[in-house]
Amino acid sequence: MHQDIERVLFDEHEIRNGIDRVAQSVTRIMGAEEFTVVSVLKGSCIFASDLIRRIPVPLQLAFVAARSYGDGTTAGKLEIDLVPTGGEIEGRRMLLVDDILDTGRTMACLKKVLLERGAAEVRTCVFLDKPARREVEFNADFKVFCVEDLFVVGYGLDYAGRYRNLPYVGALRPELYTPEPDEVPRAATQTQ
Ligand code: 5GP
Ligand code: MG
Repeated sequence: MHQDIERVLFDEHEIRNGIDRVAQSVTRIMGAEEFTVVSVLKGSCIFASDLIRRIPVPLQLAFVAARSYGDGTTAGKLEIDLVPTGGEIEGRRMLLVDDILDTGRTMACLKKVLLERGAAEVRTCVFLDKPARREVEFNADFKVFCVEDLFVVGYGLDYAGRYRNLPYVGALRPELYTPEPDEVPRAATQTQ
């Protein structure tokens, strides 16, 4: 796996420090009353599990799944399932957590769905923010790092399902995902 990475953007030490900083802000701003952390599967599972262990106040954990069907490295149509039900949402204060804010569509859409289903408040937290790619106006309330417009993997982020278990965030070698000019475009693949 390591040989597929062109360069490391955030190593384990930087990630740990960045998460400590954000966990402190979340605790300060949201921690007065119990809230629910909603982790967007699959990409944010590693970030969410590290983050919640540094928030020393009562909280609950829930999951949503969002898949965007694209060509593997770009966002296509969004499909949402596994939305928390009734009592898990109604009247709850929520912190929606995702791996990366790219076009902004996933977070904007999930925030709207949670509010429509009765959440009292939805704040958002992302591990990475790629502001250069934004297509809908959306700002996360909490973010760990900003990244330039590169396709990144590791620490939960995948390419075609792989690399999530890398302990750091790296830029994938572009030749591994840029189709050759004479290559037939890949069939729709699923990224989560
Ligand atoms: P958005 O709806 O903001 O465009 O897309 C967010 C989702 O796209 C992320 O949750 C992630 O699954 C995927 N994504 C966007 N940029 C990257 C990237 O650089 N690397 C990986 N692995 N996934 C990305
Ligand atoms: Mg995702």
